[in-house]
Amino acid sequence: MADCNETLRELETFLDGELDAPARESIQAHLGGCLDCLQAFDFHAELRTVISAKCQNDQMPAGLLAKIELCFGEDFDGDGQVG
Ligand SMILES: [Zn+2]
Repeated sequence: MADCNETLRELETFLDGELDAPARESIQAHLGGCLDCLQAFDFHAELRTVISAKCQNDQMPAGLLAKIELCFGEDFDGDGQVG
């Protein structure tokens, strides 16, 4: 079974779903008996949920990109130099 250090080190990989089955089972077994690591995992898992939900809601308004390009278009004359 993984210890606390190993569990926390694999936390992001675990949440990415990129651990192989034996490593995942080892982590899950540790989480079943270690409240500290379980809370750390819960926190990171929730953080990911919040971030992904926010990213999906934050779509760039139509036309904004065009306005931005227009602004830059006045400063950049095509060769990458300002002015
Ligand atoms: Zn632990």
